[in-house]
Amino acid sequence: MTKKREVTQLDRLESVREALKIVNAQPLAEEARAALAKAMQTTEDMIDQLFATRPGGRLEALYRVSQVLGTSLDLDEVLNQVMDAVIGLTGAERGFLMLLNPDTGELDLRAARNYEQETLTPKEVEFSRTVIQTVVKNGEGVVSTDAQKDPRFAGQDSIVFFSLRSILCAPLRARGEVIGVIYVDNRAQSGIFTPADLNLLNAFATQSAIAIENARLYTRTDKALAERVAELETLSKVDHELSSHLDMDAVTALTEKWALAETGASRCLLIHQQEDGSLALMNKPSQPADGGLDDALSRAVRQALTAGSAVGLDPTDGIPARLVVPVQCAGQPACALVVERHEPFGDAARQFLPRLSSRAAAAMENARLYEAVQEANKAKSKFVSVVTHELRIPMTSIKGYTDLLRQGAVGPINDMQKNFLGVIRNNVERMSALVSDLSDISHLETGRLKLNSTFLNLADQIQEIAATLTPRFQDKQQTLDIEAAGDLPKVFADPNRLAQVLTNLISNANKYTPNAGKVWVGARTEGDMVRVEVKDTGIGISEEDQAGLFGQFFRSESPEVREQQGWGLGLNVAKRLVALMGGEIGAISAVGQGSTFWFTLPTYALAVDEEQS
Ligand code: ADP
Repeated sequence: MTKKREVTQLDRLESVREALKIVNAQPLAEEARAALAKAMQTTEDMIDQLFATRPGGRLEALYRVSQVLGTSLDLDEVLNQVMDAVIGLTGAERGFLMLLNPDTGELDLRAARNYEQETLTPKEVEFSRTVIQTVVKNGEGVVSTDAQKDPRFAGQDSIVFFSLRSILCAPLRARGEVIGVIYVDNRAQSGIFTPADLNLLNAFATQSAIAIENARLYTRTDKALAERVAELETLSKVDHELSSHLDMDAVTALTEKWALAETGASRCLLIHQQEDGSLALMNKPSQPADGGLDDALSRAVRQALTAGSAVGLDPTDGIPARLVVPVQCAGQPACALVVERHEPFGDAARQFLPRLSSRAAAAMENARLYEAVQEANKAKSKFVSVVTHELRIPMTSIKGYTDLLRQGAVGPINDMQKNFLGVIRNNVERMSALVSDLSDISHLETGRLKLNSTFLNLADQIQEIAATLTPRFQDKQQTLDIEAAGDLPKVFADPNRLAQVLTNLISNANKYTPNAGKVWVGARTEGDMVRVEVKDTGIGISEEDQAGLFGQFFRSESPEVREQQGWGLGLNVAKRLVALMGGEIGAISAVGQGSTFWFTLPTYALAVDEEQS
């Protein structure tokens, strides 16, 4: 019946449209044309409306909206699209879309729209819960042409109260499960929906459910991704902070800080097992472990350390919830990372803590190795300091007796004996230089070398050192030129240590420059520093060797260097001394082109020196 009436109306309207088109082609007065345009538009609207409500038209419309669905992955947008399409398709007054909340099992209202595609206010949300519950329970759609008279719902409060008449409700199914419902109704008119409408809605609901599931999945994936990115950012900050510390206390404090911040714990403990098997705290928690560690915690820590896996304890009788994660260094449990709080820990904390633990383990291992290296260094410095001290005394006596013998103080000696004594004297000198450098290095490394800095006239210092070294330059027929203006500002330095640096650089220039070469020493102001340069026309230094310069025991492999006496310690000591006096040192050189060694010294007093003196 309905079908026939609609088609006839459509036919009539289409003939009106044709007639209007003919009139439109005629010359018309302006007013008449405006009225005609309006009439044509109204006809078009009516045709569209009829077309949409025609069974074939609905299918077409269903196809059209199905295509629009799925173009968005925003869940709310998809839900509104679904509702608007359903209302448009069925000619309902308004519609609601409810989704089952997987956490609570309740139906949550997710979209409420009217035929004008407006979102309904909470006051306008009036629907029959009975109908919806029936649909969810049976998994089948419901159509009621007049709910007031429908024996299935007659007398239901909501139906009477909201004066509901035409109701159409279909389940939303995804993967065989009902995930929600689509509900549309019309309060004023009965007979709006037919069983064919329910079929249509069912077909549409299937498509909508897929779009909804996709949007949900996307939202979930998107959220999970955002959480993972946030966690990676946090972990990169943790890595950065942990790796910039080599001190065990700093590492435990940082581990505690991150554990508290990221798990929402009220307290964090780092507990390790001592050699006697007892448990002890490694960190100084912001909230102290009152009365030591309780039995439950001790048991959990031992279990985590033995099994090498995390242990979680639920809160009981005033004891907080706890998460205990082992910190494994080189496969061995180093300690346990414990977090506590009143509420149980969630998945995020459970996942974060082992990640923090592995990072803390690496940092602790580094701190432990660094401590071991420091210990070894200290032991070495101690050894060197004892040995150098013990060697000085016999060397002084060897030197003294050799001199006495050479001078003939204990009887006449022949030339050969004098020569031999000279060799002994030379070698003792070499040993003495080595012992002196080693002693300096050990003092510098242990911070026991104290400076006696004062304001000095650098030009005088240079002249003095040059004078003591002049015989060596004469031996090799080398020239030694000095260019240091007398009006240079005074430098703040220890005179003996400055002399040591200057002697090393100038004697190196003499040693590593062939006979008849030239050496030039200059000094000039550079800001609030004075720069000293020692330049020679010597053998020069290869790029590869320059990388090793200033290192301990560094000597070039070249034969010109090896034929000179030396231990490769002078530049290392010089570098440390210059740094201690507040300056810098460096070299510019190329093989066969000579070398320029330079260093700077401050012209102002250093606070650190004042403390030392
Ligand atoms: P030593 O002179 O006792 O070997 P140094 O620490 O003073 O120890 O110098 C280290 C090395 O640097 C030298 O063995 C040499 O290879 C290189 N070197 C230092 N000064 C010069 C220079 N003026 N010209 C070329 N090479 C130099």
